[in-house]
Amino acid sequence: MSNPDILSNTSLRVYFQAKEETFELQTVVDNKKLQIYSCSMPLGESAISFIYSDFEETYTALRNTETIFLEINAGLQVKAHWEELHKLSVKLVRRHPYFGFASQMLSQAAGQAMAVDMRLLSRLVPLYRQMHDNLTLLVKKCMSVQDGIRGSSFVDRYADLMLTHQLADRSPLRYSTVVTEFLPAVPFPLWKTEDCDYPVIPTLQELRAQEVPLELVDSLYPRSLQDLYHYIIAGYLKQGICFKICKNCGRYFTVTGSMNAEYCDRKIEGSQKTCRQMGAVRVYQQKQMKDPILRLYNRAYKTHNARIRYGRMTREEFLEWSTRARALRDKCLEGQISAADFEMWLKE
Ligand SMILES: [Zn+2]
Repeated sequence: MSNPDILSNTSLRVYFQAKEETFELQTVVDNKKLQIYSCSMPLGESAISFIYSDFEETYTALRNTETIFLEINAGLQVKAHWEELHKLSVKLVRRHPYFGFASQMLSQAAGQAMAVDMRLLSRLVPLYRQMHDNLTLLVKKCMSVQDGIRGSSFVDRYADLMLTHQLADRSPLRYSTVVTEFLPAVPFPLWKTEDCDYPVIPTLQELRAQEVPLELVDSLYPRSLQDLYHYIIAGYLKQGICFKICKNCGRYFTVTGSMNAEYCDRKIEGSQKTCRQMGAVRVYQQKQMKDPILRLYNRAYKTHNARIRYGRMTREEFLEWSTRARALRDKCLEGQISAADFEMWLKE
């Protein structure tokens, strides 16, 4: 099988499985399903990577298709233009999986027998921008927790945002088309044939023939960008996906493990370390710093306490001393006075 024309019969498939979200671009050639692109990430990651990326270049590329379609419709450089769009299709989904929907639209354009609607893709630009704004608002105001602040559930907050008209999108969380499909319940490698760049997706018969355990998963085949957006946020809300602000870089991150997580896994600019690794170092350093201070205090407390027994200090004197010592210890732990000064005072 040779390389397929991926601009024919291309569809985006989105599903949530085993705490991950997966985006796939598939095409059908000779009754075989091929995988053009696939990526899986922890639930919540696609929204985070979308809101923190700059897509101006992608938007320009989408807008430029107006001129390309215009020329194609006029019969100018038709072959070269479709080749260009072919490349764009793969580039789009690789830039961010949400643009897989634009790739799918390109496939629809290629399948049209009549003139292509010039604005087919450029029309998506304001919709992608809207999706970006909505997701940013939801991450910040709906699906996030701050330390110590609990309160209404994310679902309640979503309803409130909708009712108070803070969300531009007030339509019901509707999406088509969702298909409940059999998927391998365990990681299952796809195989490639020699002369085709894209791996073949095994059929149900092939999976069962190899006794691969299966599970049922609801897959979305979006027909509009709103389908994709609704499916993502409905999925996040139902699964209780939660975001937090990283204490190092100040950006939101997806809480995948413990709710006590304080740092994200982004690389710190100009460093090989991530915020989380940096956070661990900081906690360790703080502990190391606190340790000698606490040791100094504990040692002095014991010696002063013993002085009561030997009659060299009254109980009142000791209580007065310990109150001052504790206050100084706390100042020292906060870094207001140095450990050396604290030690000197304790020895007086
Ligand atoms: Zn961070």
